[in-house]
Amino acid sequence: MQITAAVVHEKAGPFAVERLDLTDPRPDEALVRIVASGMCQTDLHGRDGYYNTPYPAVYGHEGAGIVEAVGSAVTAFAPGDHVVISYPWCGQCPNCRRDLPSHCMRSFDLKMRGTRADGSTLMSKDGAPVYSAFFQQSSFATHAIANARYMVKVRKDAPLELLGPFACSGQTGAGAVLISMQPRPGDAIAVFGVGAVGLSGLMAAKIAGCDPIIAVDLHDGRLTLARALGATHAINHSGRNDVVAEIRRITGEGVRFALETSAQPAVFREAVEALMPAGTCVLLGSARRGTEVSFEMPFLQFGRVVRGVIQGESHPQEFIPKLVDFLMLGNMPVDRMMTFYPLAEINRAAQESSRGATIKPVLRMPQ
Ligand SMILES: [Zn+2]
Ligand SMILES: [Zn+2]
Repeated sequence: MQITAAVVHEKAGPFAVERLDLTDPRPDEALVRIVASGMCQTDLHGRDGYYNTPYPAVYGHEGAGIVEAVGSAVTAFAPGDHVVISYPWCGQCPNCRRDLPSHCMRSFDLKMRGTRADGSTLMSKDGAPVYSAFFQQSSFATHAIANARYMVKVRKDAPLELLGPFACSGQTGAGAVLISMQPRPGDAIAVFGVGAVGLSGLMAAKIAGCDPIIAVDLHDGRLTLARALGATHAINHSGRNDVVAEIRRITGEGVRFALETSAQPAVFREAVEALMPAGTCVLLGSARRGTEVSFEMPFLQFGRVVRGVIQGESHPQEFIPKLVDFLMLGNMPVDRMMTFYPLAEINRAAQESSRGATIKPVLRMPQ
């Protein structure tokens, strides 16, 4: 079928909204009409060639939409279902067999190669392939083909256009707190970087009863929003080198948990140094290959833990419906961080996201 999608033709080139051909779903796949898709930094890193996805390519990995057709082997979904499309995993590697799908050892290829596992593409133009299985979805388009394994059914009374970001940035931040950290009420937490991932973690920390909740960022506007979403303290990092001392002044002994989303080595070090004994620092920020960080070895004594987490270690079909319930209860007002753009203005969305004017861009698809 003919669809409309945002195509990038060359490294770091602009998005071009064009008509493309989309293949039919295979037996284990579904055709989803995308209502809206979040835009993540990963999409822009893909556009800029960080992952060596071939061009032309269609990005987007936070798609939310309505099932239009399902393959013959799909039983869990039917046309009309509201769905979010989450991250892919292989199901067979040592980590998938241990029920750790977010740490799938083939996930990089499944996310970044731009093809299905067998090398086929989902979209084409005039018979030529368009690399279009980014995260096995390529949701910057009016329609996507998705494998049912990565689809999550969501309640129909929830506003679909708010749900796409739960597929990646939302569950990354919220899962790091609720699944990886599992704080108890009264645990102190510091969130370094309150973009879309950090704010999702911060809202989850509030749901868990963390106190204090300390937000650290460079932008006053984001810190104001962090306060509104549950931060008890806000520290503007600009021009100061006493952030760790300030956190110790607030908490006494340091924080039980630190969430690092900035991917800046100096900030990561602060996140580790802010920990109390037996505290845990979770790294979510994705730094480029070759980035190094140092901290004093004694900081890892007394049971401090430093670890990385991907996709909030979520099982999306269990976790994303919970996040949607939080949204509907008013406990996770993700709309407060979103700015909506029509697909035709995707380049403006990317620019405003890159310079920090927009926290979470969401693209509405033409109908
Ligand atoms: Zn795997
Ligand atoms: Zn993402």
